[in-house]
Amino acid sequence: MREPISDFSEAARLDALQQLKLLDTSPSESFDRITRMASQIFGLPIAAVSLTDSDRQWFKSRVGVAHQSIPRDKAPCAHVAESAAPLIIEDFQADAYYAESVLGRAGTRFYAGAPLITREGYGLGALCVLGTEPRKASSSELAALVDLAAMVMNQIELEHAFGRVDPVSGVPTRNQFRDDLADLARDQAGEQYLAVFVDLARDEQISRIARVMGSAQVDEVVREATRSLQKVLGPDRTVYHISSAQFAFLSPPKAEPFAYMQELRAALTSIRQTSSVRFVTNVAIGVRPFILGEVAADDVLRGAASAAQDARESDGVALYSLSSDLAHKRQYGLLNAFGSALDDDSQLRLVFQPRIELSTGRCIGAEALLRWRHPEIGDVSPGEFIPVIEQTSMARAATQWVLDAAMDQLAAWRLPPEEFALSVNLSAANLAEDDLIARIQLGLLKRGLRPEQIEFELTESAIMGEPDRALAMLREMAATGVCLAIDDFGTGHSSLAYLQRVPARVVKIDQTFVRNLTEPGGADFVLLETMIGLAHKLGFRVVAEGVEMQETAIILAQLGCDEAQGFWFGRPMEPEQFSAWRACSSGVSPMQASA
Ligand code: C2E
Ligand code: CA
Ligand code: CA
Repeated sequence: MREPISDFSEAARLDALQQLKLLDTSPSESFDRITRMASQIFGLPIAAVSLTDSDRQWFKSRVGVAHQSIPRDKAPCAHVAESAAPLIIEDFQADAYYAESVLGRAGTRFYAGAPLITREGYGLGALCVLGTEPRKASSSELAALVDLAAMVMNQIELEHAFGRVDPVSGVPTRNQFRDDLADLARDQAGEQYLAVFVDLARDEQISRIARVMGSAQVDEVVREATRSLQKVLGPDRTVYHISSAQFAFLSPPKAEPFAYMQELRAALTSIRQTSSVRFVTNVAIGVRPFILGEVAADDVLRGAASAAQDARESDGVALYSLSSDLAHKRQYGLLNAFGSALDDDSQLRLVFQPRIELSTGRCIGAEALLRWRHPEIGDVSPGEFIPVIEQTSMARAATQWVLDAAMDQLAAWRLPPEEFALSVNLSAANLAEDDLIARIQLGLLKRGLRPEQIEFELTESAIMGEPDRALAMLREMAATGVCLAIDDFGTGHSSLAYLQRVPARVVKIDQTFVRNLTEPGGADFVLLETMIGLAHKLGFRVVAEGVEMQETAIILAQLGCDEAQGFWFGRPMEPEQFSAWRACSSGVSPMQASA
């Protein structure tokens, strides 16, 4: 009475079942609720959601049964799954085939099962009720069972889709990318593919759009981007939504990297020409070749993302490079570790480097410089970690940490405000913080400090990032009475006309112009002389950084430079060391020292 099913359709059915990753998962109330309803409708003690695995019926949900599974052989649910049609057995004893089944021998007399069918038509198993007395099933009971089975399928598909399709873009997620890649690796192991990572904008840019235009606008940008990418890829290829403004897809098999990158460039240009939104001018694309089955899905994505990061610095499309991937990996590691450092008082500290008034040799201030000692990797140079965190939203917390520590120290030193000022470095991102000034003022107030006691250093490039906004912010800051300094002067490309509008009182000439200056005359000397003269004409006080030799200090004093900072005067020091140094520092100008 049983028709054999073909090996092929059974393999496809099993594959569909396995894809859903339901087997051997824990019980869940959303299924148990439906099973209880089935048992109540029939007034029978036993009901189950029973899935047909290769050799067993496994119960995702059950009432009145102790077992988690029974053998598939002669199980009525297996027949329901194979035929994808309901089945009623009114009396097991009257059915020669089922009388000999495991259920039949255990005393089951009645069975009704409705198939669990996927959208593609695969029977996964049955929703079934069992009784120990023979009985019939009315058509309304059977109709209810079929409805409940459909509810079970909805639940299964809902749970499966959760986290697999992005609710905003409507395309598959990173989880799905992982699974699809695993499937491909099974079917086409050893084939070369290219993973393409499309980065529409940095997270910071996205959150800025969200702040300014609202998150509905961001969603719209994402949807438009999705549509553009789908148009480029065509209906047969999948675009995956990896995170807020990041997408990924795979090249057609055997694509040659350089030719494919040309194609991507052309596609990008055409998207730009047809798009209504501005984001497309910021797109960065990373391409990562890999062999199916040899690289884990997450590594494939990370590699492509790292290439996209490189693309930001080149012309929009970049190929994966191992060395820059390692660098990005380290940066990423540092970023995470720095987050913990902010919460761990033992890792971060400030050191202080004296600033010397050249005409008198007195120390009239210091620059607070951040130091980070990681418990495992040891000291990390600010030259390495500051540029990394400055790119992220962590810039705010980092600056706040420095601000608090610097003000605490200043308050502890109790130096007369007219004799000593402490400078703190700000990042470009800080200029976008609406409450920065309020936080500074609050910090000063809490500690009874005066605004003149603190100075903020900003590089030219930090100001030039968003000149109008920066200028407005800096004007407000200057109005509170704190001093502003333009750091690393000479390394940026800002015009003097612009710098003149910046309400800074100080320019700090970058070390590169200072370090090698040992004698008057020569090109370096002329350059420095011009910079100092120009800065003075514009009304700035001039500080030379990176003074390593006495000769340099003397020349600077002769050129009329106001202040100097550098190893020759004093290296950055721990607070106690700095106090001790200051107490016995000579207070003589470099020229007197040489006499
Ligand atoms: P910067 O603001 O230009 O700081 C001066 C840097 O030059 C410091 O390096 C200092 O140790 C070094 N230096 C001072 N005198 C000499 C000298 O005579 N010769 C030489 N070769 N170097 C000298 P450091 O402490 O490694 O800091 C590097 C950069 O990291 C800083 O450059 C600044 O841009 C950034 N940074 C440090 N601390 C902070 C901070 O708290 N916040 C922010 N946003 N940036 C910071
Ligand atoms: Ca500085
Ligand atoms: Ca500097």
